[in-house]
Amino acid sequence: MFKYERGKYPNAKLGYLPVLCMHCAEPPCEEVCPTGATRIEEDGIVVIDADTCIGCKYCIVACPYGARNAFRGRVDYFEGRRTPFEAERESEHVPGTAEKCDFCLDRVREGREPACVEACVGDARIFGDLNDKESEVSRLITRRGGFQLNPELGRSRRYTICRMIKNVHCRRLKKQV
Ligand code: SF4
Ligand code: SF4
Repeated sequence: MFKYERGKYPNAKLGYLPVLCMHCAEPPCEEVCPTGATRIEEDGIVVIDADTCIGCKYCIVACPYGARNAFRGRVDYFEGRRTPFEAERESEHVPGTAEKCDFCLDRVREGREPACVEACVGDARIFGDLNDKESEVSRLITRRGGFQLNPELGRSRRYTICRMIKNVHCRRLKKQV
């Protein structure tokens, strides 16, 4: 969660933004990974290979956005009872490995939206192609003034997650840059 201030005292307000993996152009998480488990795919999506990950957590420390977590093992939402969702997704999570958002890689490559975008009841998340000027994300960024998070870190050139007034998320496709 990214916390920020808007305005000046006495009219200052605190804002909170959920932060996902930025799929950095030069990801520090990849630089420090000793096994090559973290890598950049052909289309620019930064992924973690759970079979190769040894759980050293270097990448978690290196990520400037706090976008990674260590998966320690199963914790059911209801004690002693798994929901159908938990049962279905359990095999995708390997205890002792690092995890992060990968834009729901399989879904995106099938032309579908990430699960969070599809499921959000408030339509607070928008996923699309920044290079398509007619896409919804492009139009929203123009209209609401989207911005890059922590540009001083200089890491997110290829993909950009844009946080705007209504938590609009967007991405830039590598092949179109
Ligand atoms: S946001 Fe963090 S986890 Fe994602 S690519 Fe950049 S350094 Fe890696
Ligand atoms: S925890 Fe896994 S992905 Fe992260 S640096 Fe170590 S081996 Fe690489």
